Amino acid sequence: MPQASQLLSSVFGFPSFRPGQQEIVEAVTEGQNVLAIMPTGGGKSLCFQLPALCRDGVTVVISPLIALMRDQVRGLREAGVEAGALTSGNTEEETDAVFQALDQGRLRLLYMAPERLASGGTLNLLRRIGVGLIAVDEAHCVSQWGHDFRPDYLRIGELRQALGVPLAAFTATADAETRDEIVARLFDGQPPRVFLHGFDRPNIHLAFQSKDGPRRQILEFAAARKGQSGIVYCGTRAKTETLAAALNADGHTACHYHGGMEAEDRRIVEGRFNNDDGLIVVATVAFGMGVDKPDIRWVAHADLPKSIEAYYQEIGRAGRDGAPAETLTLFGADDIRYRRSQIDESLAPPERRAADHGRLNALLGLAEALRCRRTTLLSYFGDSAEACGNCDLCDRPAEVFDGTQPVRMALSAILRTEEYFGAGHLIDILTGNETDKVVARGHQALPTFGVGRDYDRRQWQAIFRQMMGHDLIRPDPSRHGALRMTHAARPILRDEATIELRRDTIRAAKSGPKVKTLVSEEDAPLLSALKAKRRAFAESARVPAYVIFTDRTLIEMAERRPSSMDEMATISGVGAKKLERYGEGFLAVITGEQSGPAHPQRRKLSGRSEAAVYDRLLEVQAELAHGDDGTGKPMSCSASLLAKVAALQRADHGSLVRILGDRRAERFGPAFLNVLKEA
Ligand code: ADP
Ligand code: ZN
Repeated sequence: MPQASQLLSSVFGFPSFRPGQQEIVEAVTEGQNVLAIMPTGGGKSLCFQLPALCRDGVTVVISPLIALMRDQVRGLREAGVEAGALTSGNTEEETDAVFQALDQGRLRLLYMAPERLASGGTLNLLRRIGVGLIAVDEAHCVSQWGHDFRPDYLRIGELRQALGVPLAAFTATADAETRDEIVARLFDGQPPRVFLHGFDRPNIHLAFQSKDGPRRQILEFAAARKGQSGIVYCGTRAKTETLAAALNADGHTACHYHGGMEAEDRRIVEGRFNNDDGLIVVATVAFGMGVDKPDIRWVAHADLPKSIEAYYQEIGRAGRDGAPAETLTLFGADDIRYRRSQIDESLAPPERRAADHGRLNALLGLAEALRCRRTTLLSYFGDSAEACGNCDLCDRPAEVFDGTQPVRMALSAILRTEEYFGAGHLIDILTGNETDKVVARGHQALPTFGVGRDYDRRQWQAIFRQMMGHDLIRPDPSRHGALRMTHAARPILRDEATIELRRDTIRAAKSGPKVKTLVSEEDAPLLSALKAKRRAFAESARVPAYVIFTDRTLIEMAERRPSSMDEMATISGVGAKKLERYGEGFLAVITGEQSGPAHPQRRKLSGRSEAAVYDRLLEVQAELAHGDDGTGKPMSCSASLLAKVAALQRADHGSLVRILGDRRAERFGPAFLNVLKEA
């Protein structure tokens, strides 16, 4: 049996396992029944793909999404693994090829949509081909409570029993209810080995902002990330269209996506998002499970998600390749009202609604958190964590104030008006604003009238929003959203507890959006050249760019600048097969020895006298890549550095140090000065 860790590097090109993967791979390879709960992007697929290569027989993979299956099959084939899918999206030739590979005993992984299990022939087929393992992706689809319920998933349990083989189930959904349902339905109640894995996604930056010109907030966030692939989630279909238009008007390439669109149009957007670099999709939550793009660099919520689980799942689509990714979630009092009424108006039984309020509360607690967001988020999922240094509250601690007194004033205004009014009217009372409505009800005579003049209207809105966020008050749907006090507020009203509130930061003076980059300025030109190369390969192979290499792999190439095929092989994500196919091509980009189209920096110089100098510098640099004696550590200069050197009017060692830094100037300086002198 081939060693798993050896295949990890030779086939998949990864130097090591991600946290948790190894134990799961071992258990699955040994043939234990396994339920693994891992966050999106945690690397679940490897946990059945690798055992599939270590075990005898075919591994059947049940997955709910055709696009996702096709992607994985393509990825495996690129890595030199025989895999195929039987889905309704297949062409006849594709299906024939799968059967042929099965008959010849070549196929290692067979992907299948759950609908297939309903057809009588499937069980016979699976008996015939010698299945050794069943892997179930997105196992929470078996849960009738979930939004992703797939009735055909209920057949998987029978299939397992009929074939008598081990089953490994994977999901990113954590809650205990769903877990119990999976055990009951897939494993017939016999507890499998459960792996519950670290929910932290340390590369994702977390941030929330209260709404304050939400369209502008989203446009600013996107502007700072121009050219990077991102998703904007909206609460309504209409908003996806207007916001996509606003982003396009602002110079981005954006598409909208929602469940009301024709299936064909949705597929077009999905396809473009997967294949193009830098597209923004503005979507409702309908844009979800099928999104398997590992290099989504940011996710923004234009409206508050419905629960902490939904939030976690949606932001989790960013940065699955492990490279830095960013998120921004906007929220306001209207969002809170909307989400509460959605739960109250649902047809679910009362316990379920209470649980849903709890999940929303957890999200609101996160939105109004006073300290590290990640600590707050992970503690909800049962993980503990120190302050993370990668969230907005770690970047800039919240300013807090003792909100006990204003909260008590607000509660008093609510109670004295018998819990019949919304925030607008209550704020009029607190700030002593004699509106017609106030006068008509005689509320100017209340003892609370005008007691809150120390805070202006905006500040009161923030206080009410935070009170809702702390679940001290809730809108009552049977009273048209009038605010009512909850039990949680009693201790504050009775002077038994105090409460800290956030001072809503009036937006700090802006110095224009700061552009975020994935690599240092020096490596950026090389990274774009590598991306261009990737696009060329992707286009000729007709696969999404990340199937060739993920962003993370290209970033590592740009930073480490391998100068030989051996060094290229040590880059994470470069397995043997990909090294053979693409290694030379990317190496040529890095060392600059390419015969193909010139680097953009070089192209800019074409026809100018600096061009010849640039080319000469490139040659000299290649000669010195390993130092004078050819044994030094590999080193090279980016195209933009060479262009700067080529443009020097009067060069001396000092000016080279300024451009290249000490290390590069030491190696290349004297030779470059010669080139410049000759010019
Ligand atoms: P999910 O858990 O969401 O199904 P995937 O299996 O698609 O996640 O993995 C997410 C990304 O992580 C992919 O780009 C995959 O290539 C990468 N990955 C998985 N395992 C490793 C590893 N051990 N080292 C480096 N990258 C990995
Ligand atoms: Zn933090």
